[in-house]
Amino acid sequence: MFLKILLGLLCGVRALGAENGTAQQGPPPLLLVSFDGFRADYLRRFPMPNLKHLYSQGALVEQLTNVFITKTFPNHYSLVTGLYAESHGILASNMYDPISHKSFHVAGNHSDPSWWSEARPLWLTALDSGYKTAIAMWPGSEVAIGNRTASHFLPYDSSVTFQQRLGNTTKWMLGDGKEPGAMFAALYWEEPDRSGHQFGPDNDTAMSQVLKEVDDHIGLLISELKRTGLWGRVNVLITSDHGMAQCSAERLIKLDDCLHPDNYTLVDLSPVTAIIPIKDPEAIFALLNNCHHNMTAYMKSAIPDRLHYRNNERTQPIILVADEGWTIMQRGTKLPRLGDHGYDNSLPSMHPFMAAAGPSFRQGYRISSLQSVDIYPLMCHLLSVPPQPNNGTLNQARCLLVAETCWEVPLVVGMVVGVLLVLSTVTVLFRFLRYRRPSGSRPFQRLQVDDDDDDDPLLE
Ligand code: AMP
Ligand code: ZN
Ligand code: ZN
Repeated sequence: MFLKILLGLLCGVRALGAENGTAQQGPPPLLLVSFDGFRADYLRRFPMPNLKHLYSQGALVEQLTNVFITKTFPNHYSLVTGLYAESHGILASNMYDPISHKSFHVAGNHSDPSWWSEARPLWLTALDSGYKTAIAMWPGSEVAIGNRTASHFLPYDSSVTFQQRLGNTTKWMLGDGKEPGAMFAALYWEEPDRSGHQFGPDNDTAMSQVLKEVDDHIGLLISELKRTGLWGRVNVLITSDHGMAQCSAERLIKLDDCLHPDNYTLVDLSPVTAIIPIKDPEAIFALLNNCHHNMTAYMKSAIPDRLHYRNNERTQPIILVADEGWTIMQRGTKLPRLGDHGYDNSLPSMHPFMAAAGPSFRQGYRISSLQSVDIYPLMCHLLSVPPQPNNGTLNQARCLLVAETCWEVPLVVGMVVGVLLVLSTVTVLFRFLRYRRPSGSRPFQRLQVDDDDDDDPLLE
């Protein structure tokens, strides 16, 4: 009780400080931005001067290992919960829940709160710490999860421009003089995912054009933060949900060649197919298992642990996973797009990146990789918000932060190896010298000279 009152008072002080426009109490606000489908290697392949400027002032994680399945909704929910898909319950773009008998479709009905309530996203957890939060079109943000949304949100509308989304976000972060500004804000943008699907990630001409647009948006973001006085006062994370693989009309897996569609209900199609067998699951599995060299079939119980995808009611009895660049089709479905994602999350082509800047980050710092579930504990740490139980860890991300001492594994290993090398060299030298002493005549001859009778009286 006492603790509750104390917390209430502290939150009140923090809110009042912002209301009165006095110096900011507590940690810096945090802005999280996702550019959908930004594959890590786009950073090496295309110029991106504004993004490079941003992380030259802060830190870069060259590759993030995203979660399986490598789709937009599961991965965006993992970023704000720190959970794998099996734990947060948003397992795919199309789902069926065998308990409620409801269906979920990204391109249709997906706002029923029951789909989202297996986890609590950061925009709600931050409310519990007394903060305002503001979300522009992040998947799930328009859903009343546990009867709550962020303090401010924009319902999803793909026709709203980046400038409009950004303008709302900075307005919410600044507050209006009466209400304090949002401490946690997030913004979602559909590119380069849309162009990656349409042209394929290997199309340098098309991708360089869309990545120039994305980089211009980042330039706009930096100018807007500077114009509003937020630059340098807020922490900014720029990241993405997944990468993109090159596909082609030649790499097709036709389910109907192996099994008549009357035998199963199809929940999701490609590149991860979710199937409910109508009868004799073992026989259906056997047919699918031998269907195509470039497709792996799993009974639910045999889905590998590393995918973190088995332990949820919404994972269907059989799943099929296409190899990179392959598309699973059923008769009547559209021809494949030139780029797609959803594949095994260990594939480098599926990995996005993360750039960070702001008062909490070291300047010009780089690490090669991080798990995307580690971003949630990092964000909770930056905001001093107690994290919900999650699958991530702060251990590696600590190194990105100015206020943290961190022992980098390669450095520690290098130091240990160095010390061991020096010690063993000294030991070998020492042994070598000792070994050589009896045969070496000069020092002992001198000793013998020292042992002269003349010295004896002195010893007595
Ligand atoms: P996908 O590439 O199938 O994983 O999904 C990406 C697409 O999802 C984007 O191009 C958007 O059109 C769409 N999308 C993203 N966020 C939302 C949302 N909150 N509501 C509906 N559709 C969305
Ligand atoms: Zn996406
Ligand atoms: Zn996509």
